[in-house]
Amino acid sequence: MDHFLYRDGLLHAEDVPLIEIAAEVGTPFYCYSTATLTRHYRLFEEALNGLDHLVCYSVKSLSNQAILRTLAGLGAGMDVVSGGEYRRALAAGVPGEKIVFSGVGKTHEEMAFALTHGIRQFNVESDSELHALSEVAAAMGKRAPVTLRVNPDVDAKTHEKIATGRKEDKFGVPIARARALYAEAARLPGLEVVGVDVHIGSQLTDLAPFEAAFGKIAELTRALRADGHAIRRLDLGGGLGIPYTSSNETPPLPLDYGAMIRRVLGDLDVEIEIEPGRLIAGNAGILVAQVIYLKQGEGRDFLILDAAMNDLIRPAMYGAHHDIVPVVEPCAGIERYPVDIVGPVCESGDTFAKQRLMPPLAAGDLVAFRSAGAYGAVMSSEYNTRPLIPEVLVHQDQYAVIRPRPSFDEIINRDRLPSWL
Ligand SMILES: *Cc1c(COP(=O)(O)O)cnc(C)c1O
Repeated sequence: MDHFLYRDGLLHAEDVPLIEIAAEVGTPFYCYSTATLTRHYRLFEEALNGLDHLVCYSVKSLSNQAILRTLAGLGAGMDVVSGGEYRRALAAGVPGEKIVFSGVGKTHEEMAFALTHGIRQFNVESDSELHALSEVAAAMGKRAPVTLRVNPDVDAKTHEKIATGRKEDKFGVPIARARALYAEAARLPGLEVVGVDVHIGSQLTDLAPFEAAFGKIAELTRALRADGHAIRRLDLGGGLGIPYTSSNETPPLPLDYGAMIRRVLGDLDVEIEIEPGRLIAGNAGILVAQVIYLKQGEGRDFLILDAAMNDLIRPAMYGAHHDIVPVVEPCAGIERYPVDIVGPVCESGDTFAKQRLMPPLAAGDLVAFRSAGAYGAVMSSEYNTRPLIPEVLVHQDQYAVIRPRPSFDEIINRDRLPSWL
């Protein structure tokens, strides 16, 4: 459920008509709903209610500071995967003690920076990283809190590019080697082992792979405790999927996910951390674009928008589906026609939808891509020297631009000409 609904024939974000925002900030733009973000965050809080837990929002899914501050205000911790995201979380007012640092390639500088400013834990992904982190921390006279990210060799049954828990994926340490690596970690001077971490992928639409992975983690936790490690925290990663179409998709609900966690891990007496991104941010954001042209091709019609693959890359990158709806509500029962919905970028991949049934639209009309909050703005680029599009946050009847559109001068003046030119 989200808060982008038609009222009096116009699509609104909470209490604000989108045409009002479009008139002020221009198109295309991303628009987020505070009420939807809040609702989704609270679903996880409810799901884990009664368990010792922390919901660490996955910053990479949508990382604007206004979003981070909104969630931090509700009590969220943060999961970051780079020094840049760590700094963003700090800048948004999140204390280091509520920030978890994940990712396969943390540099020494990133480790030292996080150790200086505070960290809840590092999720370590390899033997080499374990040694590097110990060295960095020991040199600072500190002990870094760590979990090892374990690769349980479970197929998340999701898109190839976002499955991370199979043995051929680059993530984590093989579960068969985990006990040896924990023994290693316990010997290193700069580390304090606090728990176990797992993250098997994104956009999972079934609880079974999670349950299989968590079962292996429970077993490993018992073995590690028997080996003498004080495992007090389990980080279960993110990955819960969302519905991208209004029709037949029914991904698992956070409540069922929570019940499964209780069933599989409830008797371990551990603190549970989860790292949801998409489920919190995905349906809390839309992208609003304008129709530039209608173009009649050979046997097919094109709707050319002012948004392109550089603004929302998911369709080009993952073949992802986004519902695309007119901002002015079409009359009930109006006839729909198949069109290819495309952007202006010089790539055939700049296609948002093929043969999508749409009501008649004209140049100047506005459309909204639904479910564009997660992995939308954060993956955008300036390909074709198209400025990054603005982000707007709505809160009831108020809205604010939380990232303005850069001017062409700002973009072009970033280049530097070398002395010989
Ligand atoms: C991407 C990622 C997440 C968030 O995944 P979602 O599918 O957005 O919930 C959580 N943890 C780690 C380590 C990640 O890389």
